[in-house]
Amino acid sequence: MPIATVNPATGETLKTYEAMGDEEIERRLQLAEATFRTYRASNFVDRARLLIQAANLLDEDRQDIARTMTTEMGKPIRQAHAEAAKCAKAMRWYAEHAEELLADEEPAEADVRDSGASRVRVRYRPLGPVLAVMPWNFPLWQVIRFAAPALMAGNVGLLKHASNVPQTALYLEDLFHRAGYTEGCFQTLLIGSGAVGGILLDERVRAATLTGSEPAGREVASTAGQMIKKTVLELGGSDPYVVMPSADLNRAAQIAVTARVQNNGQSCIAAKRFIVHTDVYDAFAERFVEGMKALKVGDPQLADTDVGPLASERGRTDLEELVDDATRSGAHVLCGGKRPDWPGWYYPPTVLSGITREMRIHREEAFGPVATLYRAGDLDEAVLIANDSPFGLSSNVWTRDEAEVDRFVRDLEAGSVYFNGMTASHPAFPFGGVKRSGYGRELSGHGIREFCNITTVWHG
Ligand code: NDP
Repeated sequence: MPIATVNPATGETLKTYEAMGDEEIERRLQLAEATFRTYRASNFVDRARLLIQAANLLDEDRQDIARTMTTEMGKPIRQAHAEAAKCAKAMRWYAEHAEELLADEEPAEADVRDSGASRVRVRYRPLGPVLAVMPWNFPLWQVIRFAAPALMAGNVGLLKHASNVPQTALYLEDLFHRAGYTEGCFQTLLIGSGAVGGILLDERVRAATLTGSEPAGREVASTAGQMIKKTVLELGGSDPYVVMPSADLNRAAQIAVTARVQNNGQSCIAAKRFIVHTDVYDAFAERFVEGMKALKVGDPQLADTDVGPLASERGRTDLEELVDDATRSGAHVLCGGKRPDWPGWYYPPTVLSGITREMRIHREEAFGPVATLYRAGDLDEAVLIANDSPFGLSSNVWTRDEAEVDRFVRDLEAGSVYFNGMTASHPAFPFGGVKRSGYGRELSGHGIREFCNITTVWHG
């Protein structure tokens, strides 16, 4: 894949970049390692000051960076603004909380005595340079949610961003430099995915995190595994959105539309499979389809656009193939289902019903504005359908029945369960999945501790 900015709204190539060669990669690895030796000894107050300065600059740059993101990957401009604001908020959150999240822990007195010690502490020490392999769908947020905790923990970051968002990738490096970080604290490597393996095998890189597809995750994790290096993987999702009879149907249908089409439907935590109790199925389906049809599809740079183009031609073809496979096998198209005949990689908001287990869309991630509807006879069947997926990232349930809440919390195979609302990450809550959605957690105290050397300090 060439490293280039290609406007998905027009298909026009705006700027191409030469990939960094071996010498430049080596220079940057050396710099990362050398910088880590000093940066690791910095204190939380200094780290927080730098991160807050970066957040302030990001706030100032919001208009420009939002436009860049929209140009590179097609998200509606309002959502690009919101993404930049969310990043600044997460940076401030970690600046404020990191010291407390990484404070020394003292085991129980009885256990300390039992070990024959006079004192025991657990200290969270940084690991070193961490490689972040990141996707284009939230080109700022995916990086910041790694970088903010990593930098506050005393690690340094190496970013290998997706090849279609090079301007955003370079912006991030520039942002941290302008904020006052030493050059080696955060570096962007302009490289294709073929160069990732060599970097992972390098002793100087201590750990890696990847957000993206399952094949990319598998490759990065297995290469890192050869070197016994820690990885965190945040891969795809096909999140269920369950609607039970006690739900506020109007609201459930309204939020369902946003939950499916946010970021032009290209979000790992977008609700993708809508599992509706038979008693309210028809009423929900009618409202949901109406909402999907009412969305404004068009130029993502316009403030009133709800759904822009998909980020790449390949992404649209993949999505079309999933829809075509389903309709060939008998799925009904309740709206959308046909690409428009104007330039750019647009695909309309689409709802499919009559989904069966044989259809690819039942098991694969639909990375675009395509929803599948399922009818469930009762709660047990709803749970069964929800869990009948290789993925387990997040889940959404609409119910006002407390007994049902307990059952879903107990039984849904996912990294989170959101009741009467849609999944949205927050710096204070752990984020990540089970099954083939990956492992490890980002955000919160769990996220910042992933890339720490959890050190037992024992005094005789
Ligand atoms: P990829 O997983 O291919 O890309 C994500 C990142 O991984 C990019 O930086 C990419 O680099 C890199 N990468 C890709 N292959 C390898 C590899 N073998 N070794 C090391 N790094 C690699 O996602 P795509 O953009 O191709 O999207 C395909 C599908 O992945 C989507 O349809 C969706 O299902 C899923 N996806 C999920 C995301 C999520 O948020 N969980 C985000 C994006 C995609 P490069 O760009 O240079 O190839």
